[in-house]
Amino acid sequence: MKRIGIIAAQGDVSEHILAVNAAFAELGDRGEGVAVRSPSGLSAVHAVILPGGESTAISRLLVKFGLHDALVERVNQGMPIMGTCAGAILLASRGDGDVARTRTVLLGLMDMTVNRNAFGRQRESFQASVSIHGMDRSFEAVFIRAPAIMEVGKGCIPLARVEDRIIMARQGSRFALTFHPELTGDTRIHALLINEI
Ligand code: GLN
Repeated sequence: MKRIGIIAAQGDVSEHILAVNAAFAELGDRGEGVAVRSPSGLSAVHAVILPGGESTAISRLLVKFGLHDALVERVNQGMPIMGTCAGAILLASRGDGDVARTRTVLLGLMDMTVNRNAFGRQRESFQASVSIHGMDRSFEAVFIRAPAIMEVGKGCIPLARVEDRIIMARQGSRFALTFHPELTGDTRIHALLINEI
């Protein structure tokens, strides 16, 4: 039985739990999504999702719950992780001026620089059909005040782009995506994480 923890600090937690359960069903694999709020909860799961929401709020709660250091430790021991939207911002090792000004504490688990509101100022929210490296069909991606990945270091591989900006990247079994795969009923991205366990 595989267990995927959804970090339940703030943001769209229940949507990810439903998407994880749907992905397990579709794969014919045994597993479930569970909410994680503490280091002991984290020790009971095999992979983790950091949901979208508000990156500053989530980062403060991660520190408060003792989850910041616990996550860095587990992921450095090899646990797969996926960060979506605000979660992708937190996975980065470098942020823009907004990240600095709000004193958002990044996890620094992926060698990349993020722009926190790259798409947000022009268009609060939009949907785009994106092609993702390794997938045979395009993915309907929902962007909500979306960040973008501005630059990646060696070992961090861009997987998808919108208007020349990187919107999905992978570093080993760590995935960052600046959109919301839990909102469209397409389970292929959650399946990617499940298959890393
Ligand atoms: N841009 C937002 C932030 O800074 C993230 C938006 C989202 O997760 N939908 O946290």
